[in-house]
Parts: sequence; C-alpha cells; structure tokens
Amino acid sequence: MNATPHPSAWGLLPEEWKPLCKELGLPSFRATQIVTGLYQTFALSWNDITTLPVELREQLSQTIDLTPLEIAHIQHAGDDVRKLLLRCQDGACIETVMIPSKGRLTQCISSQVGCNFRCAFCASGQRGCVRSLTAGEIVGQVMAACQLMRADQQAAGVPATGGTPSRTPGAKPTLPRPGNIVVMGMGEPFDNYDNVLRALRILNDQKGINIGARHITISTCGVVPGIQRLAEEGVQFELSVSLHAPNDELRNQLMPVNRRWPVAELIATCRDYFEKTGRIVTFEYTLVKDFNDRLQHADALIRLLRGMPCKVNLIPLSPVDGFDGTPPLERDSLAFLDRLLKAKLATTLRKSRGKEVDAACGQLRLRTLT
Ligand code: SAH
Repeated sequence: MNATPHPSAWGLLPEEWKPLCKELGLPSFRATQIVTGLYQTFALSWNDITTLPVELREQLSQTIDLTPLEIAHIQHAGDDVRKLLLRCQDGACIETVMIPSKGRLTQCISSQVGCNFRCAFCASGQRGCVRSLTAGEIVGQVMAACQLMRADQQAAGVPATGGTPSRTPGAKPTLPRPGNIVVMGMGEPFDNYDNVLRALRILNDQKGINIGARHITISTCGVVPGIQRLAEEGVQFELSVSLHAPNDELRNQLMPVNRRWPVAELIATCRDYFEKTGRIVTFEYTLVKDFNDRLQHADALIRLLRGMPCKVNLIPLSPVDGFDGTPPLERDSLAFLDRLLKAKLATTLRKSRGKEVDAACGQLRLRTLT
C-alpha cells in the first residue's frame, strides 16, 4: 500500500532525471534514454521506451507515474478547432483547445480545475476552484495534443517515426507538437505559480518539448505579486494581462480581483515589469456592448497606458450564461480599434474562433493569436 501518489514523469525537468536515476541506483545514460523516450518518441507508457530493459520498465512503472490524461471527449468546431475534455486520475476534468492557424498549432491549456477569481463573464469561475493542476497534468495536456497530432499525421500517411516522408536521410525525425502555448484555459496561472512555471520550463526545454519561450504566453487576471515574481524569474515567456476596463469603477464590476489590486497598482506593476525585463506586456480587453466599448473608454485606456510600450488585444465578448452583457456591434469594435491605433497603441481586434465549442462550455476563449 502506498498512500503517496507516484511522482509524474511529465512533471520532472529533463535535468532532474540524472540525479533521480542516481537515487534509483541506475547509470546516468538511463536518464538520457528516458528523456529521449518521453520527449522525442512521446512514449505514453514505460513499455513504449523500448531502449530500456523490460525489468527496468517494470521497476519504473512501480515508482514513477507515466499515465496519459484520458481523452474523455473531443469536440470539433467548424474551422479545425478541437476542444478536448481531459480526465485526470482523480476524475477531475479539464479542457484544452487546439487551434490551427497559418500552418502552426496554438494550444490553449488550463492551469486549475475551475478558478477562484470569479470574473463576471467567465464561466470557469462560476463554481470556484476545485484544485490546482500539477506540473505533470499541465504538461500532460500538451502530450495529449501531440498524441492527436501524431495520429493526424499517421492518418495522412506520414510514417509513424515522424518527420516527413521526404526528409533527408539521417536527419533526426521530429514528431509534431504545438507551435504556440497560451495559458488561457481554466484557472488563474498565478494562483498556481510554481506548478505552472515548472510545466512551462519543461515545455520550453530543448530536451523537453522544445517550444520557444516567446511562443509561450501566460495570461493573468491581474495578480500583482505573480507579475512581480515573473519579472524576477529570468524567463522569456510572454505575459498577457486581462485588463478589460480602463478604470476601477468599471473593472470592479467585471473583476472582483480589482478590489484587491486596483487599476493604478496593476498598471504600475506592469510598467515596472517592462522596466525590469524589457518585455512588452499585452493587455486583453474584452469589449462588452455599451459597458466598456464607447470611445470615451478608448480614450481613458489611451491615457492609462500612455508612455508604456505595450500591446492591446480587443476581444468581442463571447456570451455566457449568468452574465447579462452582450457582444459589441462590429462597427463599435472597429471604431474602438481605430481610436487606439490613431493614438499609436499597437492594437489587434481578435476574431473568436471555434464559436461552436465556445458556446457549448462558455469557458475557453478560442482566438487566433498573432
Ligand atoms: N485567469 C487568466 C487566464 C484564463 S482566462 C486570465 O484571466 O487572464 C483567459 C482570457 O479569456 C482572459 O482574458 C479572460 O478575461 C477571457 N475571457 C473569459 N471569458 C470570456 C468571455 N466570455 N468573453 C471574452 N473573453 C473572455
């Protein structure tokens, strides 16, 4: 009987395998074989790592967990968007979304089961947070996407070893993986800081899933200590801040987090973040008809962000049950966009994608990312 659950293989950084192998009395080349098995061939069980002796695979399966998240459901949206419902070992279900765009795949991943922050228009906060995800579960979502991408390739006739049929002889085969990761699924990443950062390091590691840091985006509802901590972290991940309103009066109505860290404090923290890291913050601004989509709000936003190098992403609201706001008129979104652009704010207006899956859960925001 073992009361403590086994550590998850996907929750370990590639560099942590050598000391672990030492602890288990194994030679260090086993660590290399394991890391290659996990991330080059995408093993889904210890038995898949055929470079390891059978008894060792058996020993490892007793000590370190390598069980994929169960793909409980796949929901398709018109334009090739797929939303996966994944079941963790304790039965908790999480969502991740695969969004193809311009030959790359962007994957939106969850950081928690539910969310504590209860933003008015966000379905995932409606029932609070059940628990935070482990690093292994966060990485596991990407492994599930890799698994489906591999199946897609095989269905398209690309050999199972990966790569393209015409690849140069001797070239290392590469298995498909997402090009971009956004932590914009269920949960608040800075409410699960350590596990999220650990998972993103594994995704970013060249010996891990090898996704470039600039292709990994963390999105926060405005947890100031999290932003401050990230500024000191020495990582190159992108930071996105869900602002949604240019002043406390409106932001308090949308986002209870604003009572804890109001607009002025949040923006000052973002300015500091830029000063410290030289990295540009993206502000998300969900447009709600007649609430925050008037030109006076655009002007207030311009004043608020003046002098800070940053980007703004305008997102038309996706209607959700329990929130009585409605999406903006297209001409108002365009006028808002135009106002910001004229003030030299780098602004994009995002089109939601995968409306069908959005509507079904009212939870994950599907967007094309630049
Ligand atoms: N907790 C993090 C990440 C999850 S939410 C955060 O708040 O940033 C990801 C993004 O989707 C946030 O910008 C959030 O405000 C936005 N969002 C949630 N529900 C939405 C809806 N109904 N319409 C438009 N955007 C929404």
